Amino acid sequence: MKTLQPGAVIGILGGGQLGRMLAMAAAQLGYHTHIYCPDDNNPAEQVTDRLSRKAYDDQEALAEFASQVDVITYEFENIPVETVEALVETTPVFPSSTVLKVSQDRLSEKDFLNDNGIPTAPYLAVDSLDNLRQATDKLGIPAVLKTRRFGYDGKGQVVIKSADQLEQAFNDLGGKQLILEGFIPFTMEISVLVGRGQDGQIKTFVPVENQHKNHILDVSIAPANIQADIAEQATESAKKIVEALDYVGLLAVEYFVSADEPKLRVNEIAPRVHNSGHWTIEACPTSQFEQHIRAVSGLALGDTSLYGRAVMTNLIGDDILKYEELLRDAGANVHHYGKANARPGRKMGHVTRIYPLD
Ligand code: AMP
Repeated sequence: MKTLQPGAVIGILGGGQLGRMLAMAAAQLGYHTHIYCPDDNNPAEQVTDRLSRKAYDDQEALAEFASQVDVITYEFENIPVETVEALVETTPVFPSSTVLKVSQDRLSEKDFLNDNGIPTAPYLAVDSLDNLRQATDKLGIPAVLKTRRFGYDGKGQVVIKSADQLEQAFNDLGGKQLILEGFIPFTMEISVLVGRGQDGQIKTFVPVENQHKNHILDVSIAPANIQADIAEQATESAKKIVEALDYVGLLAVEYFVSADEPKLRVNEIAPRVHNSGHWTIEACPTSQFEQHIRAVSGLALGDTSLYGRAVMTNLIGDDILKYEELLRDAGANVHHYGKANARPGRKMGHVTRIYPLD
């Protein structure tokens, strides 16, 4: 294990708002950041002193980037595994390419979780319409058909409510590499942000409740209003996941909470900082971003206790027009991601309010 000294350079693959907030946390700890991202006009560009605007398969650019940074991490999980495998030849990358492989495919992710005794929705791989018919016979209707890879914010999935929808749903999702999940009638969606250091030290933040609007995270409330035994169970399973993956960095685990057993099932894991953890910036001594930077830099993890009850609201699309009004509200911690165009559904910023703990 090598501890990075202030002045060292952290390479970050991806230039979105998560990369931006990671770069800001890195700067607080005295590090430089080097963002590697193919697109232009990235939120992270505005706060980093080094930038490579290059493709993820540009071997020459990747080698140059790797030679200029001390450690590499990423802010989104759809980085090609080959990119990480090329980089790790010369420079440490956290989380590892093994973690990426597991989490990029809903099927391998669910296999991994179930192999480790962690409940998920029941699921079956689907590669043909016949497969899908057999799978719905086994799992029942309603069920959720999803692409195995590249789904986000409800994209790449269809809720099957009747058998006559099967063919259309199958074709709409591309007709291969799909997964059918049993429909979970959950009472709440929660997540646990868990950090693990290079020395194996683990720290979790309190479970947080997540409410969605149009399949996009709308509000996160921490701590989640759940029974203590469910909170304990969620925290323990998040710890088990990072241990089983030999994980280094911050990981988000999303759960469905149900009235019936198993009361807790993992929906998905994200090997990165996560929208449902933005409240930690104001509500905890160490934010999820700082925790990730500490972990990948070989530092001790920070304190994750709560200063207060936190409510984080995303500013999606035109919500950002409320920016100046929000700034006049004394309790609002407003974050603007510096994106120029407020397209519908685009995450433009967020606001966090902290209240006394009950
Ligand atoms: P995902 O992209 O897998 O996170 O799914 C997006 C949203 O769809 C989740 O946050 C849930 O609200 C809903 N959802 C996904 N899978 C299921 C399921 N198996 N049962 C019930 N709702 C689901």
